[in-house]
Amino acid sequence: MAADHFCQACRTPFANAFPLDENGLCPLCRRGMRGYDAAYSYGFYDGNLARLIQIYKYSAISTLAQPLSSLLSLALPRSERIDAIVPVPMHWFRRWTRGFDQTRLLAEELSKRTGLPCLRVLSRTRRGTPQAGLSDRERRKNVANSFAVPDAARVRGKNILIIDDVLTTGATASACGLALKKAGARRVTAITVARADRRFYAPELTGRARSTSVGS
Ligand SMILES: [Zn+2]
Repeated sequence: MAADHFCQACRTPFANAFPLDENGLCPLCRRGMRGYDAAYSYGFYDGNLARLIQIYKYSAISTLAQPLSSLLSLALPRSERIDAIVPVPMHWFRRWTRGFDQTRLLAEELSKRTGLPCLRVLSRTRRGTPQAGLSDRERRKNVANSFAVPDAARVRGKNILIIDDVLTTGATASACGLALKKAGARRVTAITVARADRRFYAPELTGRARSTSVGS
């Protein structure tokens, strides 16, 4: 699926050019509400790519981390200079019930592939409610201030690449980016295997969005 209109900074796709200003920025980037400087994804959360991610995540097929991490490295432009990889942390309770931290595995595979260090520096400050099924505004409220970097020295002055499996509204990546910036990170780039197309989150499609939304 192709989208013709993207925010120049966060690369959020839009159905038309209306939300973008003369510099090509979306309202959130314009108001400085994005915690990351750029976001890239291998493809849209759709079809075979969505199925692959669901199998990886819910069937806990850890061997899929390797091919999926190769998609991540394909999505990252060569112009991005990265110092370290940081996975979006899973809440311990969800890791315990699922027995598998898919994002951490992806980050570790990408670290092996690129030789960049994988720093598990983000921690969750409170238990986040699962994001699936919430509106943009609810998601932002749900995750704001829910991440922290206890050891700021490890990220200070660095260009950080945050990893997640699916980017939906960018609320989680944004909250992680804000925590990293607060700790002194120089630049934060987000990369995900897939990105959900915002055009599917129109109110009349909420039911469908809920059934397929797994990321945040
Ligand atoms: Zn934007």
